[in-house]
Amino acid sequence: RTTENQLLVIFGASGDLTARKLVPALYKLYQEKHLPEHFAVLGVARSFMTDEQFRKRVALESKHIKDSDEFIAQFSEKLFYQDLGDSYDVSYMELNERLQDLNTAYQTDNNFIFYLSTPPSLFEPIAKNLTAQGLNDEREGWKRLIIEKPFGYSLDTAQSLNNDLHRYFKEKQIYRIDHYLGKETVQNILVTRFANSIFEPLWNRSYIHHVEITNAESDGVESRGGYYDKSGALRDMFQSHLLQLVALIVMEPPLSADPEEIRNEKLKALKSLRLMTDPEVLEQNTIRGQYLASEIDGERVNGYREEEDVDPDSTTETYAAVKFYVDNWRWADVPFYVRTAKRMPTKVTEVVIHFKSPHHQIFKNSNINKDNKLVIRIQPDEGILVKFGVKVPGQGFKVERGNLDFYYSSLGDTHIMEAYERLLLDAMQGDATLYARADEVEAAWRFTDPILEYWKEGNARIYGYSAGVWGPEHADELIEGKGQWRNPGAH
Ligand code: NAP
Repeated sequence: RTTENQLLVIFGASGDLTARKLVPALYKLYQEKHLPEHFAVLGVARSFMTDEQFRKRVALESKHIKDSDEFIAQFSEKLFYQDLGDSYDVSYMELNERLQDLNTAYQTDNNFIFYLSTPPSLFEPIAKNLTAQGLNDEREGWKRLIIEKPFGYSLDTAQSLNNDLHRYFKEKQIYRIDHYLGKETVQNILVTRFANSIFEPLWNRSYIHHVEITNAESDGVESRGGYYDKSGALRDMFQSHLLQLVALIVMEPPLSADPEEIRNEKLKALKSLRLMTDPEVLEQNTIRGQYLASEIDGERVNGYREEEDVDPDSTTETYAAVKFYVDNWRWADVPFYVRTAKRMPTKVTEVVIHFKSPHHQIFKNSNINKDNKLVIRIQPDEGILVKFGVKVPGQGFKVERGNLDFYYSSLGDTHIMEAYERLLLDAMQGDATLYARADEVEAAWRFTDPILEYWKEGNARIYGYSAGVWGPEHADELIEGKGQWRNPGAH
């Protein structure tokens, strides 16, 4: 794909994400010569800044960009800033004039991307105001809208946000960010499955015993207490990133790598998750927890309810584990176990495919065959691990576990693109494969909503757990009978 000349407009450009992720990602793209010949960035927010102040803040004096001053200075000449005054609801005429001036000066061919890196309450007003200025009109040059997460707070709010946005922009113009999809290892799930002949024949209920997904953070909520307390683990991680991972594991082979073909299959996968509405099922299959005040390496760390901007009586979960089934031909009766949490022993995200034992055991002295696993490590140490039985040298047939281990780092100097780099470049090229479509987001909410509702009504108990352990002990009962949660720290 080619990257056409274009102007990128970032709303919320005075914020953390712009300085920490977006501009550094753009710089990397510049360094790697992925930006088009004619390109400019216009930062927009209420705060007052001159172009020079904006350049200093996000590029020239940024601790997130490391390179020679000369190159950063060259890059920073592409950056501009426009303040909106008091609110995101006025001043669009001035904004439009500035856009047109930059478009003419930098020959960006009326191709505009609007990146909404603002609180979600501003997504709709910004889209509306852009439309009032004709900035959704694609008769001359294309117009695209990138929407940050969170996309909705529930099925209702996600649907109404989709409806609002569709009033102003067509679905094909809208790119909903899920930065997990920008990770190489997440995309590699598609390649592992569909570019190899050794895994896919086994990728079904005949050979797979269960699937386990862990997303663990060792940190607490840090400075995000205010945001997190309104959100919680299920909304923050499960509904979006983890269900996107589930969709890639569950989906049927698409006809081609075309974005719509892939997204059609992901949608079908999400729609096949068995909805849990029966309180008894919800009680048995979901677990929520909250980290307690405890010690790590001899130092006291706050409990969740003591964190800054968190309600001292909060019932927001920092641990969520969900067991569910996928109602389709391939996955009938295969349980999926997904957990996500803060203050875990280590920071890790992995998918584990647990295979069934061979139909007939001939090596009686060992139960090692139960251990056949495919571990897809999303982060850190990105790679793939296959665990299988090998003969221990010597008399008899003692079976031990062997590992086939692939690390992305072994590919040498290949530059692994950061998620935001990859996603920005894709949107700049009009490739929506790694962006979530409206119906996908709604399907993920449709599955998550009943769990949230059940928890909200105060039915499910909130289990406390100490920092540095793998969540509440009670969570082990969820997976009992299928083995135990894998310790992702172990090789
Ligand atoms: P932020 O710093 O809180 O907000 C970005 C900008 O939006 C601020 O600089 C501010 O600019 C404007 N803003 C904030 N609150 C506002 C309000 N109530 N009314 C009007 N304008 C307001 O957020 P961020 O961390 O950069 O994140 C931006 C978006 O990305 C959010 O949707 C967030 O959920 C999402 N996100 C962020 C991260 C991250 O790591 N930071 C990760 C994932 C997703 P002015 O006051 O100058 O207008």
